[in-house]
This record gives sequence, C-alpha cells and structure tokens, in this order.
Amino acid sequence: RRYRKTIIAGNWKMNKTLSETRAFAEELKPLLGRPKWCEVVLCVPYVNIPAATRLFKDCRIAIGAENCHYESSGAYTGEVSAEMLKELGVKYVVIGHSERRQYYNETDFTVNKKVHAALEAGLRPIVCVGESLEQRELGVTLELINYQVKCALAGVPAEKMRHVVFAYEPIWAIGTGKTATAQEAGEVCETIRTIIRKLYGARVARAVTIQYGGSMNPKNAFELLAQPDVDGGLIGGAALKPDQFVEIINAAN
Ligand code: PEP
Repeated sequence: RRYRKTIIAGNWKMNKTLSETRAFAEELKPLLGRPKWCEVVLCVPYVNIPAATRLFKDCRIAIGAENCHYESSGAYTGEVSAEMLKELGVKYVVIGHSERRQYYNETDFTVNKKVHAALEAGLRPIVCVGESLEQRELGVTLELINYQVKCALAGVPAEKMRHVVFAYEPIWAIGTGKTATAQEAGEVCETIRTIIRKLYGARVARAVTIQYGGSMNPKNAFELLAQPDVDGGLIGGAALKPDQFVEIINAAN
C-alpha cells in the first residue's frame, strides 16, 4: 500500500444545485478530521466546479469532473474539454462511468480517446470498468475487464501511468444497494493490477490506485478497503451525505 495512494472519491452524478453544494461544504467541514493519509476527491456537475474548488480548498478536497470531451476544442455543442476543466483547478475526471456507457454511447473506443485527452490536459482520469449481472453470470467478468482495461490504456505510455486511476464498478452494484463481496471486489482489482503489470511491468502496476465502486457505504467500506488491491472507493449515493462520506473517509485511514 505504501507504493500507491488511497483515494476516496465521491461521484455526485446529476445531484446538488449550487446552494446545495454550499450547504454540503458547510456540513462536511466540521466533521472532517485532521489531514489523513488518503486523498479525498469530489466529482461534481460541471456548473458547480468553480464554486466547489473554492469551497473545498481549505479542507484539502480535490475537485473532479464526471466526464469530459475527447477533443480540446471545436464544434461540439454542449460539451466541455479537459483543458477547460484543468484551467478551473480540476484535478480528476471520471471517464467511462457505466451510466455514460449506458445512456450516452460511451464506448471503449471513446473511453480511450478521453483518457488521452485527460492526460494531455494534465488531469488524472478515473477510468471506470465493470461487468453487468448477465456478464457475471455467464462467467466472463475477468475477460471483459481485461478487454476494457486494455482498450482504455491503448497508446498510453508508461510514464503517464502514475496519473491514471482505475475504478472497478460492477454495474449490478451501482445504486442498487447490492455490494460486491470484499472477495469479489478484491479479485477483480487484483486482476486489473495483473493486466497493468503485463502491459507496463511490476513497478508501474504496484503504483496504480485501483478503487472499488458500487454501493459502498459506512458499513461495508472497511472490509472492502481492507482488500490488498482495493486502494479506495468511488462513491455515489453515500457521497451526497456529509456524515456518510466522512465515515467512509475515516474507514480508509
Ligand atoms: C457510482 O456512481 O460510481 C457509484 C458507485 O454509485 P453508488 O455508490 O450509489 O452505487
């Protein structure tokens, strides 16, 4: 674990207005303890990013975006580039979340392009991979993960790998209240590290942060984070509630 950072990242999805973002920050601050070992990130809707970078600065929470476009500028109405995010002080960007794959035609091909765009802009991509319930039941989870990870990393040079974060998010566990067992989460996160080792060698692989995501909450966080290859969490629902988010951060320390 000393080779890599533990990262607890909240993913707010399409939740919280500006005033709700302010209220969350006010509630969260007194609950947060002293600076801890793990890095804490909040991925918020685009429009709340400028306020969030100010609101969470003094509690050392880094701000992330939930998506970006793969081009740096151009005729892409309604889209936001990684460069635009970087200039606002954004540090992380979620790439390939299953909701984007499901509702917005995100594919392994666009995920790869976005990973490159994020890295070029100086952002740290949090690359989401994970299987559906059908795929798990068919027994193809590890093959699928292998494919998703290889696609995401195609063309990414070894020296950029220290900026890449992975999140293993079984689709059947996202927002469902169903969590993967610690063993299931640990097995897939270990597989992701093995794939990276085969691509880039042991030194790169042991430095990559690999999170678990899918109904992580204060009750199950400790056991999941105790797995040797689970280096943090990507947290949806529980990151909307300051007390729950802080409990998960504390479980990581
Ligand atoms: C997510 O959106 O990445 C997620 C894991 O959501 P939840 O924690 O609500 O399952």
